[in-house]
Amino acid sequence: MTPVKRGTRPPAQRRRARGPASVGPSSPRVLIIGSEAVPFAKTGGLADVLGALPVALARLGWSVDLALPRYRGVTAGPPVDRFPISIGGYTREVGFHETPLGASARAVLVDCPDLFDRDSLYGVDNTDYPDNPRRFAMLVRAALEFAARHGARPSVVHAHDWQGGLAPVYLKTLYASHPVLGGTPAVFTIHNLAYQGLFEPDWLPRLDLPWDLFAIERLEYWGRISFLKGGINEAEVITTVSRQYARDIQTPEFGFGFDGILRRRAADLVGVLNGIDENKWNPSTDQFLPAAFGPDDLSGKEAAKREVLSRYGLPAGETTMKRPLIGMISRMVDQKGFDLIASLVDDLVALDATWIVLGTGEPRYQNLWTMLAARHPDRVGARIGFDEGLAHVIEAGADMFLMPSRFEPCGLNQMYSLRYGTVPIVHAVGGLADTVQDATPRHAKSTGFVFREYTGSALLAALQRALRLFQDRRRWRTLQMAGMRQDNSWDRSAREYVKIYERALSHAQSRG
Ligand code: ADP
Repeated sequence: MTPVKRGTRPPAQRRRARGPASVGPSSPRVLIIGSEAVPFAKTGGLADVLGALPVALARLGWSVDLALPRYRGVTAGPPVDRFPISIGGYTREVGFHETPLGASARAVLVDCPDLFDRDSLYGVDNTDYPDNPRRFAMLVRAALEFAARHGARPSVVHAHDWQGGLAPVYLKTLYASHPVLGGTPAVFTIHNLAYQGLFEPDWLPRLDLPWDLFAIERLEYWGRISFLKGGINEAEVITTVSRQYARDIQTPEFGFGFDGILRRRAADLVGVLNGIDENKWNPSTDQFLPAAFGPDDLSGKEAAKREVLSRYGLPAGETTMKRPLIGMISRMVDQKGFDLIASLVDDLVALDATWIVLGTGEPRYQNLWTMLAARHPDRVGARIGFDEGLAHVIEAGADMFLMPSRFEPCGLNQMYSLRYGTVPIVHAVGGLADTVQDATPRHAKSTGFVFREYTGSALLAALQRALRLFQDRRRWRTLQMAGMRQDNSWDRSAREYVKIYERALSHAQSRG
C-alpha cells in the first residue's frame, strides 16, 4: 500500500483521517516497534523490556503487535503476508511472520533478508552497517504498512530507541493523512541515550523524508540528522526507564549532548521503571538456591549465605556467618562505580564485612579484585566471569548489595536485591534513586542506603551507616521486609504505560 503524501487529500477527508483511532475501552491496540526482543534477539536491556512489556499489556486487556526484524537464525512462526515496500526507490518484497506471545499479543517479524539476514544486529567489528538508516526505516515502514493492511489500526504506536525513532517522524509526515494511520499518536522510549542514530542528511530524500526535517527543532544535530532526536521531537510523549533518569538526562552531566533537546520537551517526558521477571527472580521458587525463602521465613537466606561463602572458598564458620556479607554483580566499568571503589579499597577491606564480587569488564578492575581476594583470602572473594546461577545465590546469600553507579537509567540488580531481602547501598541516580529509599529514621518505608555525592567519602559513610544498622536486628528486618514487599513487577510498569498511551491519545485528539 502506498501511503498518501502529506497535503494531498481534500480537507474534509483529511480531518476525518486525522482523528486518532476511535477504539473502545475494550479494544485498545498498541503497535510496538523495536530492534530486539527476548526470545528473538538480544544485545541489551531493551530486549528484556520488549520481551516482557507486550505480555503485561495484554494482561491489561490491550491488543499488542510487536514488530521487529527477522535477523539471521531467528525462528519466526508462519508467514502471514508478503508484499513489496519501497523506500526512496529501494524496493523489496517483504515477508511477515507471526508468533503469538499471549492471549492478545503477537510478534510480527519483518523478513527482508537483504537488510536483516546478516552476521549481527547492528554492525561488525565495532563498525555500524552503513545502510543502518535504511534497515531501520524499513522496520518502521514495514510495521506501519502491515498494521494498515491488516486492519490492525493501532490506537497508539510505541517506538523504542533510535532504531524506532523514525516511527513518530513518518507518522507526522508521510502518513499524516493516511486513511488508516493518519493522526495515530506516538510514544517514544529512550533506553540508551548514548546511541543517537546519527547519519548524513542526504539520507532524508533516500528515506522519503522532506528536507524541512533538516531543522534544529526537528532532526538536525550538528549538521547531521539524528533518528533519536526525531523520535524525541515528533512523538506525543517521550519516556525513559526511571523518573530520576528522566530528570538526570536533562542535565549536561548526564545528557550526552541531548540535555537541551530533552529540556525543550520536559513537559512530555515521563519516567517509567522497568519491571523485573518475577518468575525468574523469586526467592520462594528459585531453582538456583539451596533452600527457598520469603518475607515470612528468611531461614533459607542463611543457607544461601553459607553456600555462597563456600563457593567462594571463604570460611563459613560462626564469625563469618555473623559478619555482614556485601555482594556485587556487575560489569566492571566506570559507569558502575568501579572508579570510586578503586579509590577506596584500603578503607573497604578495613570494614568489618566480607566481600563477594562477580563480574567482567576492564582489566584494571578485574585485576584489582583478583589481587584483593589473594591478599585477603578470608575477607574477599572475587570471581571474574559471567555466571547466572551464581548471581542468584549471591543475591540470596548476601546481606547487602553495593551498586554505586555513576549513572543508572534503571538498573535491575538493586530490584533483585530488594526481592531477596538483600539491602541495597546505592548512589542517588536514575532508577537507583527511584527504587531504594534511604534508611533515615524519618522514612517509614526505608529499603536501603542512598548516598548523594559521587565521592569516596560519601560511599564510605553509607557503608558505615549500613554496617551499624545491621547490628540492630529488628530494624534490619524491617528494612528487608519493606524491600521484599515492594512491587517491581511488569504489571505495575504496564499500568503506567497504559496511562501514557491514554495521554498520547488525548494529546492527538486535542491537536486533531
Ligand atoms: P546493566 O544492564 O547496565 O549491565 P543492570 O543492573 O540493569 O545493569 O543489569 C545487569 C544484569 O546482568 C543483571 O541481570 C545482572 O544480574 C546481570 N549480570 C551482570 N554481570 C553479571 C555476571 N558477571 N554474571 C551474571 N550475571 C551478571
